[in-house]
Amino acid sequence: MRTKESDWIRYGEEMRRPLLVHKDLSKASRVVIVGGGLSGMCCAYRMANKRPDIEIVVLEQGNRLGGVIDTWREGDWVCDVAVNATRPHPAFWRLVDDLGLSKGFKSSNPKANARWVLLDGKPHQLSALSLLKIGPLRLWRAIVKSRLGGQSVANAIPHPQIADAFCLGIVNDVAANVDADFLVPSLTKFGTGPTLSKWRLRRKIKASYPLFVPKRGSIASLEGGMQMLVQTLAEKLNETNNVTVRLNVEAKDVATVAKQNDVPPSAVIWSAPGHLEKEQATELSIFAIGFHRDQVSHLPLGYGTLIPDSTLPISGVLNESDIHHSRRCPENHRLFRLMVPHDRWDGAEESVLSCAEQLIAPNPVMFSMVGTRQIPRFPPGYMSKMSKAMSEASLDHTYVGWGATGVAITHVVAEAERLADCFDN
Ligand SMILES: Cc1cc2nc3c(=O)[nH]c(=O)nc-3n(C[C@H](O)[C@H](O)[C@H](O)COP(=O)(O)OP(=O)(O)OC[C@H]3O[C@@H](n4cnc5c(N)ncnc54)[C@H](O)[C@@H]3O)c2cc1C
Repeated sequence: MRTKESDWIRYGEEMRRPLLVHKDLSKASRVVIVGGGLSGMCCAYRMANKRPDIEIVVLEQGNRLGGVIDTWREGDWVCDVAVNATRPHPAFWRLVDDLGLSKGFKSSNPKANARWVLLDGKPHQLSALSLLKIGPLRLWRAIVKSRLGGQSVANAIPHPQIADAFCLGIVNDVAANVDADFLVPSLTKFGTGPTLSKWRLRRKIKASYPLFVPKRGSIASLEGGMQMLVQTLAEKLNETNNVTVRLNVEAKDVATVAKQNDVPPSAVIWSAPGHLEKEQATELSIFAIGFHRDQVSHLPLGYGTLIPDSTLPISGVLNESDIHHSRRCPENHRLFRLMVPHDRWDGAEESVLSCAEQLIAPNPVMFSMVGTRQIPRFPPGYMSKMSKAMSEASLDHTYVGWGATGVAITHVVAEAERLADCFDN
């Protein structure tokens, strides 16, 4: 049996998030997973490898696996539609290693770390100096208050534009609508803390990375885009004897899934968002825009710019070809990705183009809408509610994925491992 300390070393701050696993899940001989996104696929992959004696069925309503993750291509232009890179977490590194994807997995360009927020029409580079803009004392007081629980990110970061920019960049929503415990549990100290000191934990986590140890604050990505990850996972599931994937099957609810598949509800894992919390998701469209290098030589290399000003249709510009180690555009060109929330947009592509031409440069050589996605909403108090659901054992099944207790892929991947740990004999 793994000790609490080794769990903290394996999963780090993810341990603060509740694991919504039914206590009888590990007794099941047949498990049904609803949703074939990264979460459902990782849960199936981790459980199937740990327990080849269990039969696992994945139900996916669409005609492909991968959920929101996909990579758009047009000639030499390569642009991720959803997640494009990962923050450091050993669970993600373990997944890449286990899937045999290490060759194409590399740290992002260290010269493209700069992030900006457009404040009053001018780019402000985020740095320790941004603290001065917020006011260190005000920030500290707000953080301490946010530790009471159930607060919004707007309460935890007392600078409306910076707080909004931060939330827009992660969940496509404004800070007043987002639960601080959900988005930054390590800041609000949600849940139970580690059993060892911060420094010792950090050192031990660092030593646990396979492949390479990422630098603090860096990100890493896959050659060919994030589609490589879900494609490889799909291939692995296909080769695994005890996993069956059923595409084009829309699950109605837990009771129906349990009945149709002849399992108790405790053997159902729901990995589709928007299940327990019925409020709407936010919607955004994603555009790729490309320029010849000379057209955009005035823009320094960087990660990207967040735009809290809701009068503009674009909420974020990501410097895609600056960030990744692998090529994302034709030689001597640069690729940018535009985030366009639907509540800020009149729906006309020309509005996006004209805003992008003002923000970046006129006359792009390539401009294309690459996809539309929904992001679940996480209102203040969300995480406490989830935790309560767990402690009161009011769940009759297991609930995972970005709609449950964490929005990032590091969460989803670590959660699948934590779930598979429950099957340890
Ligand atoms: C634009 C965008 C940018 C992002 N950027 C980042 C980033 O930079 N870093 C990061 O860490 N994360 C990022 N993310 C988040 C990341 O992509 C998600 O955390 C992750 O992909 C979620 O995987 P999932 O399997 O939980 O959910 P999903 O991908 O939503 O998969 C759920 C699956 O369930 C299926 N489904 C739904 N309902 C049913 C039903 N009733 N029956 C059967 N199947 C059903 C869906 O079709 C879908 O395939 C981003 C997301 C978006 C949209």
